[in-house]
Amino acid sequence: MRRPTTLSALGYLRQLHKRWGVRSLVQALKMYRFHRVPFETLLTDMFGALDTYAAKFAFPIVALVARMRPDLVQMIEREGHEVASHGFNHLRYPNLTPQAREEDIVSSLAVFESLGVRVRGFRAPYNNYTDDMPLLLDRVGILWDGGFGYRPEHRGRHMFFHVNHRGRRLSTTFIPLNAWSDDRMIDTDGMGPSQITRRLVHEVTRVADLGGVIMFDFHPVRFGQPQYVGCLARLVEEAHSLGGWCPTPAEAVEYWGQHGRWPGDARFCLLLTGDIDNWVFSDYLRRVIWARQARHLRVR
Ligand SMILES: [Zn+2]
Repeated sequence: MRRPTTLSALGYLRQLHKRWGVRSLVQALKMYRFHRVPFETLLTDMFGALDTYAAKFAFPIVALVARMRPDLVQMIEREGHEVASHGFNHLRYPNLTPQAREEDIVSSLAVFESLGVRVRGFRAPYNNYTDDMPLLLDRVGILWDGGFGYRPEHRGRHMFFHVNHRGRRLSTTFIPLNAWSDDRMIDTDGMGPSQITRRLVHEVTRVADLGGVIMFDFHPVRFGQPQYVGCLARLVEEAHSLGGWCPTPAEAVEYWGQHGRWPGDARFCLLLTGDIDNWVFSDYLRRVIWARQARHLRVR
């Protein structure tokens, strides 16, 4: 028997440095700074930014992380927003066996059910899917998926799409995911709030002209920060003035499925989502430990 895994913050940073180099250390430091704002504050500020136009937001959450703070997960639902699954433990699905992939998704859904939260949507960690995952999502009854559509061949779409398997249309609705995510704009491209707002308004205006749907991934850990939450408010305001509808993805998919159009005189649909991978910085360490234990206890 191996000894239970222990991992200190320093040990984690040392490992990061050894494995991924200086850039990962800089990234870890950035995340550490972002996590100094309590998650409850990040969420409350985001809800405030959405409120004026009654815009909705969906949060794909890692189930093991969700279990640490049921109060926050339930608060999201209570405020009228949507909770979705972001897997059980934020693993890369292509590295798992088909059976482990299914186990991971099914266990994540069981966690949310035990918290009394209704989950109908899914986004794989790192937007990383295998070709057979649409079949798996269909089998476990996922209504919408917000990550498969990040594949380069789907990213340019501006409408929901379905995947066929042996001549049958699978039940899950796939939503194209826009490439302008918060991590790309803030961490990779170093854009400031006004540049971010300009870029997002540009993207939304394009889709408004096409009458389609646009989905963004804005992680609350960045987009809920005081310096960026205004971008969200501006985006929602602009979408409203362009005649956009901003419901939860589940609402949008159900409405379109029944009516084949947007409600009232809405010209297009804006879907706001943001993954929650951690509540606090130490959850990164915790997830590494959980992954090690899962590998160790492979037969679960
Ligand atoms: Zn994630």
